[in-house]
Amino acid sequence: MWYVIFIQKGSLQDTFNVIIKVGVKDFWNIHLYPNIHPFDPLAWKILVIYSAFELAIMKWIPGKVFKATPTATGHVPTYNANGVQCYFISIVALFACKYFDFFNPAIIYDMLGKLLGSIVLFAVFFCMFLSVKGLYFPSTKDCGTNGSLIVDYFWGTELYPRIMGWDVKQFTNCRFGMMYWQLGILCYAFKQYDLYGYVSSSMLISIVVQTAYIFKFFYWETGYFCSMDIQHDRAGWYICWGCLCWVPSVYTLHTIYLVEHPMLPSPLLTMILIVAGMVCVWINFDCDRQKQNFRLTSGKEKIWGKDAEYIVASYTTEDGVKRTSLLLTNGWWGLSRHIHYIPEILASVFWCVPLQSDHYLPYFYPVYLTILLFDRAWRDDARCAAKYGRAWDEYCEKVPYKVIPGVI
Ligand code: NDP
Repeated sequence: MWYVIFIQKGSLQDTFNVIIKVGVKDFWNIHLYPNIHPFDPLAWKILVIYSAFELAIMKWIPGKVFKATPTATGHVPTYNANGVQCYFISIVALFACKYFDFFNPAIIYDMLGKLLGSIVLFAVFFCMFLSVKGLYFPSTKDCGTNGSLIVDYFWGTELYPRIMGWDVKQFTNCRFGMMYWQLGILCYAFKQYDLYGYVSSSMLISIVVQTAYIFKFFYWETGYFCSMDIQHDRAGWYICWGCLCWVPSVYTLHTIYLVEHPMLPSPLLTMILIVAGMVCVWINFDCDRQKQNFRLTSGKEKIWGKDAEYIVASYTTEDGVKRTSLLLTNGWWGLSRHIHYIPEILASVFWCVPLQSDHYLPYFYPVYLTILLFDRAWRDDARCAAKYGRAWDEYCEKVPYKVIPGVI
């Protein structure tokens, strides 16, 4: 992806032609490896400083104590909920680096191949360490082998690993991956400014809508602690490598492309795309907020001005304790069981529309996200059906559509 976007300006066809012409070995040795190898001291320095900074503020910036949903073994994951504070501190720190001439954020764009090469290498070994940790010195009882070394590595062996008090998934998913998404796109805008002396309106649309989305993520971070990534997916290659490597590269791909392809949509179109994107981000947020507040108030939250309607679903944890959860069946959650995925996908379409590219790859993210979220809707339904049994069937009868109301 790095080669296609940076060297072939998005063209898979031209990339393919080069590989055919020079052969895979020379393509790797001459064209790729020198640009993405993981042995550049500056790349490691940047990664170490960034990670250390995020780890430090994650631990020491005060926040409210948040207790997430108890696990099957009765463990209650507890977090320092300081996402918004850390989000703003990180952005201010980036601008301060530029202002005080300590570091030019545009370097991130120039160094991206080597930064990604380094983090990919690190993450491969880090996930090995996590697999071993979950088997031999786990942090909680939600751990154990999946029956095969490969699945243990891929899926992970532990649900809530902590290292020296740091929650691993809060760091990899939120404070490394999602935070990079925000800081990375700002760095790319700095690069465009360095190149052309202005930030294009296409870059502006993309950054404003994504910033709204990422801010929403940190504002709602405690809700994320109760989502599938955290409650269900173990800390393995799938989620940790994904958040350390895949999020920083693929989720910012379209903005990387925009740096050297500054488009100038009219002011009217710019406004329309920004507003449409922000509306989608808001609907996605409102869906998550409605469900979260409904659960926090034990069903007392008013839903679109009416009393909440819900199903009381009971389940038994592995240690034999009977518990109940409430499943909301009106408001957004009465329209379909994963209604929040629709505005999420549409927002990504709006922040990619300004690309106006003839190539497919820059549009990869919305296509990938659609596949990811539809797959997730199936996975989440299967998980909830196993957890709640009859109560989930009742919920599915009341809210029959999985994602798109009236269609599927
Ligand atoms: P959800 O917020 O959809 O959480 C799913 C869990 O919520 C279920 O497992 C269940 O957990 C509970 N639940 C399900 N239905 C109800 C209901 N009717 N009432 C109350 N609780 C219910 O998780 P996701 O992680 O899929 O999504 C969270 C956000 O993250 C969304 O905004 C999504 O769009 C976004 N997202 C973005 C991705 C990206 O890569 N950009 C990837 C994935 C998600 P329980 O066991 O507690 O009952």
